[in-house]
Amino acid sequence: MDRFSEIIGQDIVLSHLQNALRTDSVSHAYILNGAKGSGRHMIARSFSAALLCEEREMPGTENHPVPAGAGADDQETSVHMRSRWIEPCGRCHSCLQALAGTNPDIKILEREKENSIGVNDIRKMRTDVWIRPYSAAHKVYIIPDAEKMTPAAQNALLKTLEEPPSYAVLLLLDDGTDSFLPTIMSRCVTLPLRPVPEKDVETCLRERFEADEQHARLCARFSGGSIGRAALLLENEHFAALRDRTITFIRDIAKKDAADIAVFAKEAASEDETQDLIDFLLTWNRDLLVCRSTKSTENLIFTDEVQYIIEAARAASWRGLQAASEAVFRARRRLFSNVNAELTLQMMLLEIRAAYRTEEKTAR
Ligand SMILES: [Zn+2]
Repeated sequence: MDRFSEIIGQDIVLSHLQNALRTDSVSHAYILNGAKGSGRHMIARSFSAALLCEEREMPGTENHPVPAGAGADDQETSVHMRSRWIEPCGRCHSCLQALAGTNPDIKILEREKENSIGVNDIRKMRTDVWIRPYSAAHKVYIIPDAEKMTPAAQNALLKTLEEPPSYAVLLLLDDGTDSFLPTIMSRCVTLPLRPVPEKDVETCLRERFEADEQHARLCARFSGGSIGRAALLLENEHFAALRDRTITFIRDIAKKDAADIAVFAKEAASEDETQDLIDFLLTWNRDLLVCRSTKSTENLIFTDEVQYIIEAARAASWRGLQAASEAVFRARRRLFSNVNAELTLQMMLLEIRAAYRTEEKTAR
């Protein structure tokens, strides 16, 4: 069963929903706004289950005392805050149905087309909204990928938002692209989800997914603050293979000829690995720069390459490392404007090679 206390890094949003549950002041519509993998679905599931639960866990009441040390002042720590959260019980009829995905009072919008939510999809939901809940005091509608609603669908939804039945609660999950009409926005409570700090993502990967330190740190770095994406990367063999290939190549780039570089660039571009390759190179350069400037290996991302990084950072010139990083940043900007990926990567690698070769000369 999804529980609020298991959701990481979204305390502000969760506090808002907790307060709504505690004071019985749930709004008719919420927009859960956040990138893919940020926890929107988990929040929607926990919230709807808690809202409909027949034996909600209400810390602070007789059956669920607040653990010792949990204060109520402004300095309350996150841990204490969590110990006071209302959770679905996970045992009652409603919770068991929610867990099985068969709760008749939790509806997930179904759509005809994969890439858009049309007016017909919303109309079906609108008819259903007027059927009273089976057993609970509320009926929850979850709209995944709500950013895919066409303007006509949004206008159809507006009618429900303007005069919702008292029991209805709509949860619009969107990817943060600001694609709603102002009239929709003004009738919903928007709850923006934040990127989870890298350290928290790393800890989560180690504790819940039993990842080793090196893997956890690398996937956290590439996750963009999304635990969902980090977990996918952890399982992704393709990602691990690209990482190994990139490191092997970049370690020896000073010795590569133009033909080797062309082959490598072509492969990365054709495999649609451009973005990850750019991120690997930026992270690699970042490790060298960090190691060179701090003379410490404590905060490195590529922890299994420590010995090589120490030696390379010692031999490198500051200017060379910066020139290499700038080449990667430039390539990233070019790729954003849809230029030829293969040529851009090739040019970038040639620039990195030139920067590293200068370093070798300087180091001698
Ligand atoms: Zn329950």
